Amino acid sequence: MTQNENSTAPIVRMEKVNKHFGSLHVLQDIDLEVATGEVVVVIGASGSGKSTLIRCINGLEEFQDGHIEVDGNELTPHGKSGKALQKIRTEVGMVFQQFNLFPHLSVLDNVILAPMKVRGWSRADAVETAQRLLERVGISDQAAKYPSQLSGGQQQRVALARALAMEPRLMLFDEPTSALDPEMIGEVLDAMRELAREGMTMIIVTHEMGFAREVADRVIYIHKGEIAEEAPPEKIFDTPEDERTRSFLARVL
Ligand code: ADP
Ligand code: MG
Repeated sequence: MTQNENSTAPIVRMEKVNKHFGSLHVLQDIDLEVATGEVVVVIGASGSGKSTLIRCINGLEEFQDGHIEVDGNELTPHGKSGKALQKIRTEVGMVFQQFNLFPHLSVLDNVILAPMKVRGWSRADAVETAQRLLERVGISDQAAKYPSQLSGGQQQRVALARALAMEPRLMLFDEPTSALDPEMIGEVLDAMRELAREGMTMIIVTHEMGFAREVADRVIYIHKGEIAEEAPPEKIFDTPEDERTRSFLARVL
């Protein structure tokens, strides 16, 4: 683990979080702590609550009871978090399955928008940072193009650069490669691998089990809204203890 030794408090703390969509109990007593610098991979069947779980962490979904604390900011049930939610939104970056870039803005403008609007950076400072980040994800030559002119893999790398431009303390990924053609998956995973190596705290929902095994400090298996098992990757993939984990892995590996 590339954990920051100065900081022992977890950056994410979820306690007994419950969420319902109508009669569907989609998250059940979720307890989860994530340490600074830790890479946590969330796996589980479609519909098990993986997206809902990570969307709760940055307040994209409300929950009905329990506590969620992100870097000392507390989210309260029923979406009444006010300032804490704003704070969390500026500190947590997210990359979605569908890249969600602004189609009418160039790549460069996609990346500089939030730092200028939310952080109040000058255009010159934002552009300098954006260029560095686009270089880092290998698309500095695409800065003037529009999203529709890029491949899926390139668009997702722009989305990553855009999230990083806010200097997030935590990055959330929701199936970042699921919408990509197979030949483009590697370039996005490479960029994420590099980020993990640099010590970024990451929570990643993915079906890329090889990647999970390689980068995760811890893997969490969600079954019908519950954390059924969590363990280091070698443990969960090679000797899973829970019958539900075993049966899921037998289907996907
Ligand atoms: P996963 O990401 O693991 O596929 P989700 O978190 O997206 O699962 O969804 C978990 C369950 O909640 C699914 O049964 C899904 O249909 C349901 N669900 C997700 N979003 C909503 C919503 N906005 N309204 C009602 N049900 C939802
Ligand atoms: Mg999902």
